[in-house]
Amino acid sequence: MRIGALEAGGTKMVLGIFDEEGHLLEDTKLPTRTPAQTMPEIISFFREKGIEKLGIGTFGPVDLREDSPTYGSITSTPKLDWRDYPLLKTLKEALGVPCGIDTDVNAAALAEVRLGAARGCANAVYVTVGTGVGAGICVGGKLVHGLMHPEVGHMLLKPNPRDPLPQGICPYHESCLEGLASGPAIAKRAGTGAENLQDDDPVFTLETDYLAQMCVNLIMVLSPERIVIGGGVLGKEHLLDRVRRETVRLLGGYIQAPEVTARIDSYIVLPELFPISGLIGSWLLGRDAV
Ligand code: ZN
Repeated sequence: MRIGALEAGGTKMVLGIFDEEGHLLEDTKLPTRTPAQTMPEIISFFREKGIEKLGIGTFGPVDLREDSPTYGSITSTPKLDWRDYPLLKTLKEALGVPCGIDTDVNAAALAEVRLGAARGCANAVYVTVGTGVGAGICVGGKLVHGLMHPEVGHMLLKPNPRDPLPQGICPYHESCLEGLASGPAIAKRAGTGAENLQDDDPVFTLETDYLAQMCVNLIMVLSPERIVIGGGVLGKEHLLDRVRRETVRLLGGYIQAPEVTARIDSYIVLPELFPISGLIGSWLLGRDAV
C-alpha cells in the first residue's frame, strides 16, 4: 500500500510517498501560494502516485474537533488566502481515500515519540524553536488536543533583567516564549540571525534562560519522561547543553527524579528524525487513518 504524507507549511508544502513500513519512496516540495494555485498541484501529485491513504500535518491554527462542521479547516491564520480553508475536506473529496490530520508540530511530535528521540516514552513533549515556537504534547501515548490544541509557544515567562527586549515581539502578549525566544526575537536583539553569531554572544545567555524556564514549566505542568527540542535555533550545538544545566539549576532541587538530576543529557534531547519528523509523522497519521 502506498501512503501519502503532506507536511503543509506556511512557506512550503512537503509531499511524500511512503510504503506501509514507513520507507520514504519519493518526496517533493512546492512553494505555498494561494489554495487555488497550490491545491491542484498537490492533488495531481497524490493522484498520479495512486495513494490509498493520506496523512496531513498542517500549519495552523486548524480546527481539530472531530464533531465540528469545519473539522480539518485552517482557521485564523495570518495567511489570509488560507483563512477558513477546508484543507481536509478538499483533499478527502478529491482523492477519495481515508485521511488523517493534525498540526505540523503534533505530527513531528508523534514521529519522535513513536520512532525517534522519545520512543518508549508515553509522556513526552516535542518543541520546535525557529521562526515561531510550537510544541506537541503526548500524554499516555496520545497527542493532547483539548479545547483546540496546546500553544506552548505562548506561555508567559519572566523576562531576564539583562534583556534589552524584555517585552518580546509577540503581537498578542508581552514576554511570552515565542516573543522572547524565537529566531526573529534573537535577530531583533542581535541585528542578525542566530546562525551568524558567535557561541559566546550574550544573546545566547538570554536564550538559555528562556528555554530553561520553558523546560521547568513543562516539567512542572506535564511531568514528561523526555523533552525533545529541535528547530533552527537549536542548530547552535552549545545551546542545548546550556539549557540542560540551567533547567537543573532553576528546578532548585525540587524534582528528585534521577532522570532529571543524574541523566539530564538523555532527558532533554535533540530530535532524531530532523528534518523530516513532520513528514514521517504525517505518514503515521495517514497509516492510522480509517
Ligand atoms: Zn505570544
